[in-house]
Amino acid sequence: MRSSHAAKPALAILGKRNLELGPFAIDAAVQEPGPWAHWRMRTDEDGAVWLLFDKKNSSANTLSDDVLTELNAILEKLERDPPLGLVIRSAKPGGFIAGADIAQFRGVTDVAQIEATLARGHAVLDRLDRLPSVTVAVIHGYCLGGGLEVALACDYRIAIDDASFGFPEVQLGLHPGLGGTVRLPRLINPPLAMTMMLTGRSERARRARALHLVDAVTQERHVRAAVRAAVSGETIRAKQGFVGWLLNSKPARRLLAARMSSEAAKRAPRAHYPAPYALIDLWVEHGGDADAMQKAEISSFAKLLVGDTAQNLVRVFFLRDNLKNLADGNWNGRRVHVIGAGTMGGDIAAWCAWQGFVVTLGDTNQTAIGGAIKRAAELYGKIGRDNRRRVRDALDRLIPDLTGGGVAGADLIIEAVPENLELKRKIFAGIEPKMKASAILATNTSSIPLEQLRDGLPRPERLVGIHFFNPVSRMQLVEVVSHDRVAPDVLADARAFLGRIDRLPAPVKSAPGFLVNRALTPYLLEALLMLDAGMKKETIDKAAVDFGMPMGPIELADEVGLDICLHVAEMLRGSLHRDMPDAPQWLKDKVAKGELGKKTGKGLYDWKDGHAVKSHDEAAPPPDTADRLILPMLDACMTCLREGVVADETILDGAMIFATGFAPFRGGPMHYARTRGIADVREKLVGLAATYGPRFQPDPGWDSLR
Ligand code: NAD
Repeated sequence: MRSSHAAKPALAILGKRNLELGPFAIDAAVQEPGPWAHWRMRTDEDGAVWLLFDKKNSSANTLSDDVLTELNAILEKLERDPPLGLVIRSAKPGGFIAGADIAQFRGVTDVAQIEATLARGHAVLDRLDRLPSVTVAVIHGYCLGGGLEVALACDYRIAIDDASFGFPEVQLGLHPGLGGTVRLPRLINPPLAMTMMLTGRSERARRARALHLVDAVTQERHVRAAVRAAVSGETIRAKQGFVGWLLNSKPARRLLAARMSSEAAKRAPRAHYPAPYALIDLWVEHGGDADAMQKAEISSFAKLLVGDTAQNLVRVFFLRDNLKNLADGNWNGRRVHVIGAGTMGGDIAAWCAWQGFVVTLGDTNQTAIGGAIKRAAELYGKIGRDNRRRVRDALDRLIPDLTGGGVAGADLIIEAVPENLELKRKIFAGIEPKMKASAILATNTSSIPLEQLRDGLPRPERLVGIHFFNPVSRMQLVEVVSHDRVAPDVLADARAFLGRIDRLPAPVKSAPGFLVNRALTPYLLEALLMLDAGMKKETIDKAAVDFGMPMGPIELADEVGLDICLHVAEMLRGSLHRDMPDAPQWLKDKVAKGELGKKTGKGLYDWKDGHAVKSHDEAAPPPDTADRLILPMLDACMTCLREGVVADETILDGAMIFATGFAPFRGGPMHYARTRGIADVREKLVGLAATYGPRFQPDPGWDSLR
């Protein structure tokens, strides 16, 4: 972590990775000018050429047209006088190659042009594949997508033991496009190759060795010996066996593909996510013929890339980047004090300790603290299965604090006591005088206006809302809530804190429900009205899932907790100047009876082993069901934009995707509205208002949106 490195330079040096770069001295590799912008080349004492990839002006190596053009020129030169061996290695400490430069994918529409670019890339990797020298990729850190395709074009792959290998293209609505679909199923067991490409999952070095994806796993200090052994032919090359060959035969491919398709359908329907199915089709049709497969891969990739799904998922990639960049900053706090060890406070404390903070956790109730520590241990047991030492250290950093002694030393104090203005104010009054002058005071309130909370504070500029969602360890997005008196550097520090605990900050203004709850509530309420009118809950959920939501609104309400949904809905009804339906009485009765959803095992659904028990005979939803659910959510988003609750559509779309799972392949609610047509959204809302009531009346903001 930055701060501790600054404090302990000796440890920082010891921690630095020393790459074995063969004939390159590490500094020379970085400084020495060469004829190429991204590559450097030298011959070692055994006559092997070491080719270092060090992408200019970039912290990570990514493949782009200019990088491949240079590689082509280098290979052309080597072909004229082939060395005995060619070693390809990255000079970046983080890893080998992170994949293609995704910026190149943005906004492309010309299939022929994409095909031409891909064909050029294929020609370069084919050239590497055909080079008469023994080619060896030495791989540390990440080796993803196009990076893995470069490695696959080499004769040998030597992995450092921290390396990881994967084809994450499917997350962008694509499949490998530089020969990965051709080479991987011919190198390793074909169904496992397909699983890697279909799921986008990465494999660590040792597992990659077991899969025969790499020929050797070693450590930096043995790299030279491993290279020598490969170039001299001593290393036995991992090869596909008879079973692998058999599984690549046409009848086997047909049989396996049917199963793969049905597995893929469970995760993502073809209509919304075509890439997995395109990949399966490619393999079934052309898996037996490398040349045909190569041609088909190029045309399939190009077709997917210009499609809406890939373009929207590429957009989502940059939406995440945009939120991540908001967390840039140099806040160097180390200690967090959390007040309230309940559902949220306990989990926030656990997550902060997991991410390296020393955390003191206070509560008036000792049992609550005990429960929170127990939950933390369970969470760490799951997420830290492979890293027992990290689990131990995180538990050491999570300190019960019944007396509130942690307040004085804390750089950040997060209050997460029950939603009650007077209680929160009382707590602030008690801790404020003990806080360090530089400390930030944060509240996790989900509904109390920050203007009311900052009232009476001697230093209101140090109060900020840091609104986590439940469950803290799984929800990536956190709202950073500003108010009229907050200092800009406190907001920036709050965002930087979230970056350090691996969360995405979404800056919002203090307004009822902020952004996410404000937008979700009309969606949930509409679902309850449908239920009230006799529609089956499974049918309602199906309409939302068919639209692309990760789960339907009824199931979501149970997940969140019906008590919490009801509370937020009542708060919004009381504070917004717009027509909002009251929650049905039977829902209030349910909450009063303690049937709160997943957490009590019974809510709108019954819950068993963490899953909602559903009947599977759901009827097709009436035609306007999805619009009735989704358009009010869009309309609330529009209101938030118009009122400046959120600064722009990019932050809004990112926040809604990473907080609610809003259909990622649609690129976010506002992007969806624009794709569908602003006028169409507005007219449909007017139509729904005429049929179902004024709650659908469109926000005036639509009129001014272009
Ligand atoms: P909770 O009831 O689960 O936990 C509150 C904890 O605060 C309890 O352990 C209680 O003993 C403790 N507490 C009460 N008075 C205290 C005091 N004077 N000093 C120290 N501790 C005290 O509540 P929760 O669901 O974790 O909610 C906490 C806050 O987070 C609320 O403001 C809520 O609106 C907000 N929030 C909740 C959720 C959610 O899904 N539960 C989501 C986002 C935000």
